Parts: sequence; C-alpha cells; structure tokens
Amino acid sequence: MITSPQPLPPLALIVDDDATFRMLSRMSLEQDDLRVEDVSSGEAAIEFVSSTMPDIIILDLQMPGMNGFAVCEQIRRLPNGTFVPILIMTGLDDVDSIAQAYEMGATDFIVKPCHGLMLSQRVRYMLRASHTMSALRTRESQLAQAQRIARLGGWEWDPAGDQMDLSEAACGILGIQPAAIALSHSTYLACVHDEDRELVTQALYRTLADGTGVDMDHRLMPRDGVNRVVHLLGEVMTNSGTQARWLIGTVQDVTDARAAEARIYFMANYDSLTHLPNRTLFLHRVGQVLTSGTGSHSAVLVISLDRDHRICDLHGSQRRDYLIRETAVRLQHSLSEDITVTHPPGVAPPILARLSDGQFALFLTNLAAPEDSARVAQNCLDALRNPFQIESTSVALSADIGIAIPGSDGTEAEQILRNAGTAAQSVTRKGSNGYQFYSNTMNVSIATRVSLEQDLRAAVSENQFILHYQPQVEILSEKVIGFEALIRWQHPTRGLISPAEFISVAEEEELIIKMSEWVIKSVAQQQRIWHKNGLGPTTVSINLSGLHFRQPNLASQVKSLVYAEGGNPRDIELELTESVLMRDASSTTTLLQELKASGFRLAIDDFGTGYSSLAYLEQFPIDTLKIDQAFIKDLKLGKEDSPITRAIVGMGRALKLHVVAEGVETRDQLAYLRLQGCDAYQGYLFSKPMPVHQLQYLLQERFSAETSRTKDRSRTRLAN
Ligand code: C2E
Ligand code: MG
Ligand code: MG
Repeated sequence: MITSPQPLPPLALIVDDDATFRMLSRMSLEQDDLRVEDVSSGEAAIEFVSSTMPDIIILDLQMPGMNGFAVCEQIRRLPNGTFVPILIMTGLDDVDSIAQAYEMGATDFIVKPCHGLMLSQRVRYMLRASHTMSALRTRESQLAQAQRIARLGGWEWDPAGDQMDLSEAACGILGIQPAAIALSHSTYLACVHDEDRELVTQALYRTLADGTGVDMDHRLMPRDGVNRVVHLLGEVMTNSGTQARWLIGTVQDVTDARAAEARIYFMANYDSLTHLPNRTLFLHRVGQVLTSGTGSHSAVLVISLDRDHRICDLHGSQRRDYLIRETAVRLQHSLSEDITVTHPPGVAPPILARLSDGQFALFLTNLAAPEDSARVAQNCLDALRNPFQIESTSVALSADIGIAIPGSDGTEAEQILRNAGTAAQSVTRKGSNGYQFYSNTMNVSIATRVSLEQDLRAAVSENQFILHYQPQVEILSEKVIGFEALIRWQHPTRGLISPAEFISVAEEEELIIKMSEWVIKSVAQQQRIWHKNGLGPTTVSINLSGLHFRQPNLASQVKSLVYAEGGNPRDIELELTESVLMRDASSTTTLLQELKASGFRLAIDDFGTGYSSLAYLEQFPIDTLKIDQAFIKDLKLGKEDSPITRAIVGMGRALKLHVVAEGVETRDQLAYLRLQGCDAYQGYLFSKPMPVHQLQYLLQERFSAETSRTKDRSRTRLAN
C-alpha cells in the first residue's frame, strides 16, 4: 500500500473582479478550513491554474476582459483542468447563461449575492463529490489496466434486441474497433474461428436456455498471421420483474498461457529428441486401453538397442542423437508397413515410445493372437538390421526385444512393461540379438543378476581379484614362451569365481575398464619383479574388452599404465576378440596402429568364431592368431582332421602370423597341430592357469640351460 504524507486542506481559487465579494467569500471558506487564493481577472485565473491546480474554482461570469465562460472553457483545456470542479457565481439567473456555463464545462452554479454559509456548504459538497469522482476514476483506470494486463475483456449480450456490449479491452482482444458499429452477437461470432463458431453459438444459446453458464476455450480468426485462443466465460442474468434474460461474461486472451501449457505438457509426456511419447505417457495410454478393454489381444514390447553398442560415448552426443532419431523413424516406418498392426476406427493405434537412452517400447493392440507380436518384433529387428550411415561411417546397431502379454504377464501397465523389459534383458544376457516372450522364471535370474552386479561393484572397489597365469608353449621346442593373464574373482563367500561368470556383467556395467586397469598394472608389476629376479623378459598376454575400444586414447592410456609400474609394452601382448575388431573395422585399424606404435604385441583371440574379413586381417597390424578352443575340441571328439584348424594355421602362416592353439588337452590334439605347423599352444595338457607363486619353477626352468631335460618332469607334475 502506498502511504502519502498528511494532506493539505483543499485549495479554493476565487475569481472575481469584485474585491468585497472576494474578501467575504475568502472569510467564509477559510472559516471552513480551506486554503484560499483569489484573483481579480480571468487572465490571472488562467495564469494561476496553469501553474497550480486548485481543488475547486469559484468563478464569476461577468468580469471585464475575459469573461467567466471563456475562463471556464480554457481551464478545461489545460492538462490538469479536465476534472477540477468549477462553481459559477452569477448575478444573472437567466437560464441561457446557466446553460452556456454548463456547456463550457462548469460543474455547478450559485446565484449572487449569496450567503457565506451557503457558499461554504456548496463548496464542501462539491469537493466531496469531486473526491468521490476522482476515486472512481482511479478505480476505473486500475481496472482497465488490470484487464489490459490480464488481456481480459467484459461483454454483455441481450438476446431480446440482439445487442452486444463489448468493453474496450474485449474489442482489443477480438480485433474490432470499439463501438464503431452497432454490435450484435454476430459481431462476436464473426471473430470466432470458422471451425469453432458452431460450438460457441451452441454454448451461448444453451446457456440462455438452461442457465448452466459458458466456460470454454475457442480460437479466433487468425489475425496478422497469429492464431489466438481465448477463454470465454458467461452467466445468465435475469430480471425477475420483466422475466428478461441476458448474458454477461468475460473474454480473455489465453494464447500465451495455452502455448506454455502445451509446452509443459509436451515436456512432461514426450521425448524431446524423437517426439515420441515418453514412459509416463506410454504407461498412461496402455493403462487406459487395458481398463477400457478395447484392445482385444495386445502386447507390450521393449526394444533395447544392444548395450554393447552404447553409442553415447562412441561417436559423441550429436551422432548418438542422430542414431536414436533414425531408430525411431525406422521403427515407425516398420509399424506403418506392418499388416499385422491394423487399427480400425475406434481401436487404439499402436503406441511407440522412447523409455530411456537406447530403449523404446511398443504397445500393440487389436492383434489376432498374442503370438502375432513376434512377427512385429521380427519386423522391428529387420528394420534396424542395415547399418546407419553417419557421414562417412557406417554404424551397425542391433536390438534385443522382450515381449509381455497383458493378462498372462500382468494386469497393470507398469508391471507388464517391467516384464517386457526383463525379457529384453534376458535376450541381451544371452547375447543372441532377437526377441523373447516373458516367462516367470526370468525374474529369478534377474534377481541373481542384480546381486551379482552389486557384489561386483564391491569387488572392484575392494579389489577382490587375483590373476592366474597360463603358460604358452612353443610346439617344436616345447619351451614356455609366455603366459596369458586370466582374472579370477576371490568372492568373500562364494570362493573363486571364473571370469565366464562375471566378465559380461562387468562389461555391461562398464566395470571392466577399472578391472582391466588393475590387470594391466598387476601384470606390469609382476614383470618388473621377474625382471629383478633375473626371470625376464617374460611375455604376458592380457585380454582387452570391446569397451576399451571406445576409449579415445586407449594406446597412450595403456602405455602409461605399463610404464608407471615399471613394465615395458614390448613384453605385453594385448588380446582382442575377433568380433570386437570387426565391429568397426576402419576405426579399429587406426587404434591397432597406435597400440602397435606404442610397442605392444597384438593378438586376435578366439579366432575363427567372428567371420573376419581376410582383407582386414591383412590390414590389421597383428602378430598372433589364437585359434578358438571350439575347433581344437573337434579333434578331441575323435575327429582326425579339423579343416578349419588346418585352414586357420595355413592362413596364419601365409600372413606370417604367430599361430597359437587354445584349449589343447590331449597329446593327439598337439600332434595334429604340430603336423599342421602351428607355432604354439595353451591348454590343460601343459598346465591350467595358476597363481603366480606356482610359476616360479617354470620360469626358472625356462631360464636354465637344461630346459629339455626337465620339461617331462614338470609336465607330469603339472598334470597332477
Ligand atoms: P580366453 O581369453 O579365450 O582365455 C582362455 C580360456 O580358456 C581361459 O578361461 C582358460 O582357463 C581356458 N582354457 C585354457 N586351456 C584350456 C583347456 O585346455 N581346456 C579348457 N576347457 N579350457 C581351457 P578363463 O580363465 O575362464 O577365461 C575365460 C575368458 O574370460 C577368457 O577367454 C577371456 O575372454 C575372459 N577373461 C579372462 N580374464 C580376463 C581379463 O583379465 N580381462 C578380460 N577383458 N577378459 C578376461
Ligand atoms: Mg584370451
Ligand atoms: Mg580365447
């Protein structure tokens, strides 16, 4: 609230050429606590009023020079003179003079001579009225301002004579000139958008008939290219005497508010990248369909882009965004082409939503049978099969899809979606890239998986790992030529856990990077110790995961880890599986070259399982091929020949690569490999992977001159 200083008493200006009258009037007004100024001519009055505005003017009509009429007229033209009350004092009681005085802007008149008391009574009354009028004007102007700010206008419609009154603000909102024409309700309707006019007409007449009131949004005809929305409110007024009914109401421009609401709704319910519904809206809509029971057979699919291809850190966020958008487009396109996915009028269309980074959800309704969802899933997989082209790079994405059927796999949208997600995870864990229907047993394996994940995190921070080393033996000389470092998890309650059980989880949870750093450091430390004890150099192979290939400066990182622990890249062979190398063969070449330039030896692990392209093999700067155990196993099962093993050894030799066979368990296998010209082997035949303290004598043996004499003895020992 604004507080003002103590107000001065009102100021009265007496304008009269008669000095006696001025004096008498002054006396009686001053007695009434007014401040009084007086002047003797019209000119002096104008001059006074131009600088000081009195609260009331008592003005004589007949004066020499400028008469009272002219003074009155001029005062009204002064900036502050519009509303000051002017009391005309006239000796002339003729009606014409009075009428003329009013015309010139006089407020009231009093006939001279008059009693002082009469004068002061009249002045007090006029001051009070003037004060009330001024307060009213302030209120009116505040109201008008408020309406302007709120873009709110008022209206009144009397259907009897079809007369419509619109406030100035209402005219402004509707874009019509105030009172330029006689307004009827069709003036209003003409401003209403063509498509909404019928609705508004119905609402007005219905309100007149049943008195329920109007409360609606409608659009206006576009003006200056802007589409405006207004909120129309109206109520029925009745005159009990005449039984007349008319409407009174407001119209408010809510264009900006509705646009903001729409934006907020979009942000809360849609994914800003793909413009697909988000999880909230998806669940809401699925819930609606399920409760309405209109979906006949339906299915919820969760489509997870292969985690191994998590693209966010692979190509930067812009490219990731592009891939996600393209995925959405392909999925939508596949749906629109799918004849299984029909939605006749009245049946909910399929809903595609983006749940999170690389996860989409699909709700299918109106299926002839739940199994039809499998066909849709397959079509989605097919749609994503072709690589995405980003500038000059082609990126292959694969997806895993889980399907849950409302009814058998849950009744609540949330539960069904969760189960579809569980089914998708199950596909991911199997590494199969495909689709799978949900089954109850999945939740059990999910629970196991979750606890494994938690334990693994603790293991990484508490360093619960140890390394075992498996010797690699040269076939011709039967000398140990190096070791492969293989990680084991010393679980606090479960004992030693094999990497087969936790490596894939560690990769999915991206714990593998930390684990590998530990492996690299431990190997380098061990090599330094061996070296110090005169047992070096000893080559050790280290397995790298596919995730490492996303590290932007892998080579320098690994190199500095090795040097920091006193090791040397020259004594380390890095193993990468064929599938990792082939994933993005062109960028792999650069990375391999960097690693090679840093001094590391490079090996392709599990070779033969990953469909390598021969062209790339030649181009990769690798040193070693490790034949996957599966082919060696063939030989154990009684087969005398393994054409693939033969071909791999032959190819390795042709490319001048060092060929190592993995998983050699029998002498027959070894004999076959020797015959084919395979360089080295690794396997239980010679030794299982073992803790470092058990390697000591092997290393010593290797560095002693009598290697060949003692090797039979040690082999027998190890086999036990
Ligand atoms: P891999 O690199 O192919 O390692 C060879 C695996 O074959 C080892 O299994 C080894 O114990 C096993 N093996 C060796 N000789 C024989 C044999 O004669 N018969 C049979 N049946 N198996 C044999 P392990 O230690 O369980 O490791 C399994 C896989 O886990 C490794 O396969 C490798 O891919 C991964 N892995 C192990 N340690 C690490 C690590 O430190 N980092 C990463 N990223 N992966 C690792
Ligand atoms: Mg390996
Ligand atoms: Mg292997």
